[in-house]
Amino acid sequence: MTGLSEEVRPNKAFGWAAIDTSGVLSPFKFSTRGTGEKDVAFKVLYCGICHSDLHMIKNDWGTSIYPLVPGHEVVGEVTEVGSKVQKLKVGDRVGVGCMVGSCHSCDNCTNNLENYCPEMIFTYGAKYYDGTVTYGGYSNTMVVDEHFVVGIPENLPLDAAAPLLCAGITVYSPLRFYGLDKPGLHVGVVGLGGLGHLAVKFAKAMGTKVTVISTSPSKQKEALENLGADSFLVSREQDQLRAAIGTFDGIVDTVSAQHPLLPLLGLLKSHGKLVVLGIPEKPLELPAFPLIQGRKLLGGSMIGGMKETQEMIDFAAEHGIKADTEVIAMDYVNAAMDRLLKGDVKYRFVIDIGNTLKSIS
Ligand code: NAP
Ligand code: ZN
Ligand code: ZN
Repeated sequence: MTGLSEEVRPNKAFGWAAIDTSGVLSPFKFSTRGTGEKDVAFKVLYCGICHSDLHMIKNDWGTSIYPLVPGHEVVGEVTEVGSKVQKLKVGDRVGVGCMVGSCHSCDNCTNNLENYCPEMIFTYGAKYYDGTVTYGGYSNTMVVDEHFVVGIPENLPLDAAAPLLCAGITVYSPLRFYGLDKPGLHVGVVGLGGLGHLAVKFAKAMGTKVTVISTSPSKQKEALENLGADSFLVSREQDQLRAAIGTFDGIVDTVSAQHPLLPLLGLLKSHGKLVVLGIPEKPLELPAFPLIQGRKLLGGSMIGGMKETQEMIDFAAEHGIKADTEVIAMDYVNAAMDRLLKGDVKYRFVIDIGNTLKSIS
């Protein structure tokens, strides 16, 4: 338990938590607040495993608070709504992504960019208004302000929809914002993992030509045949990179570890855009010459606002975009984290919380 205020919270809950920087997860009991007038309480059914969960359980970014219950690709079914909740009702299929609070009054919030609010509250490992620490979706139940809950259309299976809540919006938002969503443009996707495979699907649905840039030649066949990519570059093959110099309008970089930006900048046409989405624990090196030659742009992007998250979910439903998942039991989570570190997943682990999370007596 993490402090007095939590001990007096009314609802018992349980999940799995990391208790120190070893990152090993184990069963954990906690409590949640009662359902406030603008809150939605829901039973968690599935939760995706984002690489950020792996960074966080190991304190890669130096911000983790333990015990830490990860999970920000959460889907489930509404069990209770507060008296002022307007858009959701008991029984609805819902999702929660990376944030559960923001100030609602700053420039970012008033422009539907709660994700850039200086007071934004992350779904787990952050201080909530009542002083308690937020716990994520590797747990049986959540209580979340309705503003940060989205509806999941009926035609999206819940397990395959879960990864859209973080990975999906994280790639959708920059494709739109940086104008990499126009038919005929050539878009590169670096790193074919959870974010990367959804970037391929969204960019294809927007009508662009998509090339995957990967360290894993073993992913080539599937990327072309199943994910719908148009071409595939192995980033460690110099000949392949050289042949593609100056051919990309934009590149989204989802790599989770340190890697050189120089070759990626070289792949861009003049005025091309390199968008960094991955968050390696060490700083990336930025060589100036390949950036200034051709007036290129280096940008970043972090998840997306709530309005755009619902738009992304609806776009996914309309275009049949689902994550490719490996659904696992709760007690497989530590093995899954080891495999994720090695890039051994196609393409997102999703925990079957509803059927496999056992209560703790
Ligand atoms: P993931 O499933 O592990 O995918 C990352 C991919 O990067 C791997 O599959 C691999 O693809 C490639 N890669 C890994 N190590 C590499 C290395 N040393 N050199 C080159 N390529 C390497 O991870 P994810 O869940 O997609 O997350 C990716 C990153 O985005 C993480 O750092 C995560 O924290 C961050 N993230 C950011 C946001 C945001 O808002 N900006 C949101 C969510 C996640 P190949 O095998 O194809 O090379
Ligand atoms: Zn994430
Ligand atoms: Zn704000």
